[in-house]
Amino acid sequence: MTVLSPIDALKTLALPGRAVIDGALVEAASGATFHNVSPRDGTVINLVAACEAADVERAVASARAAFEDGRWRDQGPRDKKRVLFRLAELMERDAEQLALLESLDTGKPIRDARAVDVPLAINTARWYAEALDKVYGEVGASPVDRLSYAVHEPLGVIGAIVPWNFPLHMAMWKVAPALAMGNSVVLKPAEQSPLTALKLGELALEAGLPAGVLNVVPGLGGVTGQALALSMDVDMIAFTGSGPTGRRLMEYSARSNLKRVSLELGGKSPQIVFADCPDLEAAAQAAAWGVFYNQGEVCTAASRLLVEASIKDDFLNRVIAVARTMVPGDPLDPATVFGAMVSERQMNTALDYIATAHSQGGRLLMGGRRARQDSGGFYVEPTIFDRLEPDHTLAREEVFGPVLGVQTFTSDDEAIQLANDTVYGLAAGLWTSDINRAFKGARSLKAGLVWINGWDACDITMPFGGFKQSGFGRDRSLHALHKYADLKSVSVTLR
Ligand code: NAD
Repeated sequence: MTVLSPIDALKTLALPGRAVIDGALVEAASGATFHNVSPRDGTVINLVAACEAADVERAVASARAAFEDGRWRDQGPRDKKRVLFRLAELMERDAEQLALLESLDTGKPIRDARAVDVPLAINTARWYAEALDKVYGEVGASPVDRLSYAVHEPLGVIGAIVPWNFPLHMAMWKVAPALAMGNSVVLKPAEQSPLTALKLGELALEAGLPAGVLNVVPGLGGVTGQALALSMDVDMIAFTGSGPTGRRLMEYSARSNLKRVSLELGGKSPQIVFADCPDLEAAAQAAAWGVFYNQGEVCTAASRLLVEASIKDDFLNRVIAVARTMVPGDPLDPATVFGAMVSERQMNTALDYIATAHSQGGRLLMGGRRARQDSGGFYVEPTIFDRLEPDHTLAREEVFGPVLGVQTFTSDDEAIQLANDTVYGLAAGLWTSDINRAFKGARSLKAGLVWINGWDACDITMPFGGFKQSGFGRDRSLHALHKYADLKSVSVTLR
């Protein structure tokens, strides 16, 4: 069998553009569409249904009807598992297509979409399929004439609003546990990256998920997302994205039905390298990949490097050597390790932060420019600034692009103080050979994820989410199942 190159495969690939509502692939009721642009070359690759309030209402009504008549909620655990495992199998069957859609839509290297995004999304589906009958309730201590117990019950209709950096993977972090608990879902992908969510909706139907249990409504945040979040019949919004949108979602909840809200809002994550680091080369790899992976469009990006002054020059030379291997290239070329930013807007945001860092006195060590402009796509070089001061914009605001800021410290206290000097608290890491320094540091760092002598070294088994303004609520792990359920206490008086 001939294996087509991604670019040849693209010529025959149908790009999904219709919403998935009540078990059917449909246009928006108004017929409206939006242009889906590939950041690879700036071209419009397809027209996608622009769902408006009427479409969202239809999707929510369909999800509600499915929930209330129990067509999914009341299926036994074995039947639910069968469908979710089948979904994982279908995703595996179409893995190459999913990877191609993801790379084309977001600009991420196809090698990452193939090796990371798609396999992790499939693994998430399987993990929650396996976990769904391992959720136990509690029996309370009761007097002899009473039996009291607490059970987890599904919330009802979940609105999942997801971002564009890992579109399929983030969708699955929410859809899989929500479905596993018996909820119905209305998924709203980001307008920059609707393709894999639409494909997921189609595959779920093929897998045997009943109509209405998973609806997918593409469209603009301020229209489709807002309608979903203001709906009186959505029980919870599960969100990953920016802080300003997270604040709006809480406001919409207050203005509508006090729906539950869970927020994953990114960060300004520090990676601390002490002079007693056990492996400077590994730390340099982690420092560079920790911020430049996925073009820096990662909520846990290690965007602040705090390095002990005595090893700074040696360490920075190592980091720069690693970063120099990340040459911006065509995302669809399997050799590319560093692709395009998701949109022209996101590219310009990164370039603006770079200009500000210059003007505030940061010292540019590498990068700093747009790349591959001839392609028409949106590429920015991996960029490193030294001499970052705590009050510099680059030390405080999330760029969500390939820009690293370097600060130095001379004591443990100073390192931890600098690390915690942020409104965010998603991830933090430290490199040391001293076990006391490691554990004390882990305790002192105000972050939902702490990595010692590694970066991003955890998986679906561990909860994922932030402290402080990085949000609340956890994705991944068994905790995510509980997020999509309410606790009901039942007391039976024995007569
Ligand atoms: P965003 O928060 O606007 O978009 C995320 C999702 O929210 C998308 O699906 C979008 O359509 C939806 N949305 C936007 N406005 C909405 C509204 N009023 N009501 C309901 N839904 C709405 O993020 P963005 O503008 O695409 O990116 C801006 C910044 O967000 C980035 O620079 C980055 O800092 C941050 N971001 C963080 C993450 C993360 O993983 N935490 C992911 C993407 C972006």
